[in-house]
Amino acid sequence: MQRSPESDAFYRHVAQTSDSPLGLEIVSAGGSYLKMRDGREIIDFISGIAVCTLGHGHPEVVRAVQEQAARHMHVMVYGEFVQRPQSTLAQHLTSLLPDSLDRIYFVNSGTEANEAALKLAKKHTGRHRFVAFRNGYHGDTQGALSVTGRDIYRKPFEPLLPDVHFCEFNDPAAVDAITPETAAVILEPIQGEGGIIPAKQEWLRAVRERCDQTECLLIFDEIQSGFGRTGTLFAFEHYGVVPDILTMAKAMGGGMPLGGLASSSEIFRAFRVDPPLNHVTTFGGHPVSCAAADAALRVLLREGLMERATVIERTACDVLKGDAIVEVRGRGAMLGLQISDAETTRKSVAYCLNEHGILLGWTLHSDTLIRLAPPLIIDQDLLEQTLVKIRDAVDICKIQAAR
Ligand code: PMP
Repeated sequence: MQRSPESDAFYRHVAQTSDSPLGLEIVSAGGSYLKMRDGREIIDFISGIAVCTLGHGHPEVVRAVQEQAARHMHVMVYGEFVQRPQSTLAQHLTSLLPDSLDRIYFVNSGTEANEAALKLAKKHTGRHRFVAFRNGYHGDTQGALSVTGRDIYRKPFEPLLPDVHFCEFNDPAAVDAITPETAAVILEPIQGEGGIIPAKQEWLRAVRERCDQTECLLIFDEIQSGFGRTGTLFAFEHYGVVPDILTMAKAMGGGMPLGGLASSSEIFRAFRVDPPLNHVTTFGGHPVSCAAADAALRVLLREGLMERATVIERTACDVLKGDAIVEVRGRGAMLGLQISDAETTRKSVAYCLNEHGILLGWTLHSDTLIRLAPPLIIDQDLLEQTLVKIRDAVDICKIQAAR
């Protein structure tokens, strides 16, 4: 088929991040489906990489965006004016978090949330050493990249932050790496890009205890696992381990760009004083994004979508018992299918898209994992039918790869 003018412009003028972008031309999206220019409908099983929890174009979120855009958009840099969408969202969200996380600082994206968290930890503790984890992913700006645990992505940009100590995730030895010189430990309670790897309960408790002993801060990056994806509002609730700083983004904005970090007023003091205004952002907490986020949060809670995440996990574990799927990992609707080899993985993802119109995900750090992150609103019949097709596709592609 001939390329459309838009597709042509995409390849000529939109800076690319790889030589082989998916290049699907999406003209509209609704619920669990993406609609392409040629009229084909794609079942979205990755939700814009764990963003579109409510599916696409949820009417309440769309209405909130339209109404707020008509009322006002940007009026002042973050932190100066009282803007109702921001205040409402901060109040709503903190009411759902432990008492120690009673303030939110709003930013625009995940990496910015981590950037702010690292700076906050340095200034609050007066230390500059970080403990981070192999295969952890925290974003691509220089601070977040400094604590991202994959050498191939970090090396081309070195020198980065100097004092980052990388440990194995879930390794008891990591606990000893936390010392009185450590400003903060940063980790994902369920590693996303690293291959959907949940932290072990006892290990996470031990990390928390050691942070308390050494008076360093514990940062949980829940940018991917937050907002209901794992069956609770945040994944830390499964563990009963509360961080000092919680970073969030992705699904937070209901499809609009928004990020944030939650902590205590005592810790956030570091951003207010000596000197004042030492961490500012122009667009952080954009009123339209905050209005969308509050609407999305209300829908998430009212419609019982977090419970749906648990049903999705159970259904996936029941259906995906194929020969070629080695393991189904993860929590709720943040799932990874461990495949025996990279070729079967690649072929299965392509087969699902081309033969069945099912869009599956990949991860940045693993080439033998298929990532599933369907919207939580997905209809149970569609979920089951799609999972059966995925299971059979992996079996077929495994046989093909072995030839
Ligand atoms: N942390 C985690 C755990 C993530 O999954 C991501 C995005 N994949 C980020 C941080 C970075 O978020 P953003 O792309 O919004 O900067």
